[in-house]
Amino acid sequence: MEQTLSIIKPDAVAKGVIGKILDRFESNGLKIAATKKMQLSRVDAETFYAIHSERPFFKDLVDFMISGPVVVTVLEGENAVATNRDLMGATNPKEAEAGTIRADFAENIDANAVHGSDSAENAAIEIKFFFAGREIS
Ligand code: ATP
Ligand code: MG
Repeated sequence: MEQTLSIIKPDAVAKGVIGKILDRFESNGLKIAATKKMQLSRVDAETFYAIHSERPFFKDLVDFMISGPVVVTVLEGENAVATNRDLMGATNPKEAEAGTIRADFAENIDANAVHGSDSAENAAIEIKFFFAGREIS
């Protein structure tokens, strides 16, 4: 069993599609091992996306991630990282395959509905960033 971290971003939370997105996970073999709604601080968002700190879109990305509450979830299942990335669709919703979360719920590359860990190694780091061990089951 593998774990991955999902974030339902402020645009999707504001749209009221938390339940619809969590249903995509549960309907596709991913178990919700932990979940919580929270407001990220600027430091949270800068730390979480530190890998992108030199990219031109970094400030916009951080501003967007703190523009409203998010829902942070630990997903568990076989090939959870890849399964979640498949369900999410491409980073740019205009390029996302029909039926993916980003195709169905995202507006543009800045407000793209969800985050998903891109490797098992990063998933472990991201999960630890948001959750204590006793919150995951
Ligand atoms: P995420 O990490 O949020 O799951 P991702 O792995 O599909 O998305 P990354 O390359 O890690 O994509 O980029 C992180 C986020 O930065 C993207 O979700 C997007 O909101 C933003 N982003 C990435 N590339 C661009 C770009 N060229 N222009 C504007 N924003 C971008
Ligand atoms: Mg990424």
